[in-house]
Amino acid sequence: MTDKFRIFATADIGESLDLLRQRGYQVEVYPEPQAPPKKLIIEKVKSGIDGLITTLRDPIDAETFEAGKGTLKVVAQIAVGFDNINRADANRYQIPFTHTADVLTEATAEFAFFMLGALARKMWTAEHTVRENNWGYWHPYLPFLGDEVTGKTIAIIGTGRIGLAMIKKCTGFDMDMLCYDPAYQNHDYIKGIQEIKNLRYERGVTRDRTYIKYVELQQALKDADFVSIHVPLLREGETATPTYHLINETTLRMMKPTAYLVNTSRGPVVDEQALAQALRENWIAGAALDVYEREPLPLDSPLRDPAIADRCRLYPHFASAAKITRLSPDPNKGMAGRCVQGLIDVLEKNYGGDITKMPYVVNKEAFRRTA
Ligand code: NAD
Repeated sequence: MTDKFRIFATADIGESLDLLRQRGYQVEVYPEPQAPPKKLIIEKVKSGIDGLITTLRDPIDAETFEAGKGTLKVVAQIAVGFDNINRADANRYQIPFTHTADVLTEATAEFAFFMLGALARKMWTAEHTVRENNWGYWHPYLPFLGDEVTGKTIAIIGTGRIGLAMIKKCTGFDMDMLCYDPAYQNHDYIKGIQEIKNLRYERGVTRDRTYIKYVELQQALKDADFVSIHVPLLREGETATPTYHLINETTLRMMKPTAYLVNTSRGPVVDEQALAQALRENWIAGAALDVYEREPLPLDSPLRDPAIADRCRLYPHFASAAKITRLSPDPNKGMAGRCVQGLIDVLEKNYGGDITKMPYVVNKEAFRRTA
């Protein structure tokens, strides 16, 4: 049993919190479904909590860490992305923060693939045709046609965990793949996928030979029928390869007019004004988005323009929203379980208390001893 660690969770993450209570932790949960005001988070941190459970809706920065000086020991985020947490500030205050990588990888990649399919095959518009009783006849090309996905070329932007999982999904659809990642290239994985592709051709599973390779961004955008984004949100000054507005007027104009964009990464990776213009003026054929520059998507967003509704699919930051993925208390299956385990590791000094050995801690660099 643990000596009464105090935790504040900015959202209810389900039965995983009981694991903490069973260990003697005092757990307070913000009761509303919306994010708490920042002022309240600061107040709770100031009151001396040991651990803070956060979602991607909570801005965590120097003000938060200052409020927890001497008492706050860990911030446990229920998400893989952590662009809401100021890493430099966490490091300055020597507060470890954890995330929930891996357990949402397949769920996010499959949702990206389903978004792509829904967009290209016009599934939303097709269903509306039936529901609104506009399905007057079967006809070879009326009222509209979609684009087949099988055998097309996809650009995978970012080949980390989710990008590689997306590649796996696309392999089943015999897509050619152009990969771009300036910071991490997994040539071994790409080689394995090429071998699977070769085998599919050699054994007659598929009619045509297909390929996968790393290329530069411009070539990926220029040659792809689909562009799927799998990068973290990184702003100028945070990295040598920022992703803020990576998709902008210039890069959108590089894409084919028949190409589709899919974004399940973070909203600010895409310049939404430029994208709305690209859709209105048909620089590209369509876009499917799960994430936005502002969430929830404002009522006056140009992406809501009814004139582009047939080619702009909008989802509510939903890619990881599968039951087990989000809520399983098993740290090897669910984000909630992994979030709680990351918190326990730090507070209960697992791994001999060596933060650099804790698998879910992100900012290990702040705790490495310099010789
Ligand atoms: P990851 O860190 O494993 O992979 C990200 C990859 O992007 C890395 O390989 C990195 O080198 C690459 N990268 C960095 N800068 C780049 C650039 N300028 N151009 C191209 N590639 C670049 O992360 P992951 O687990 O694959 O998750 C990726 C992101 O997806 C998360 O950071 C999160 O923001 C987002 N996400 C969204 C949802 C959702 O519900 N919509 C769910 C999970 C993750």
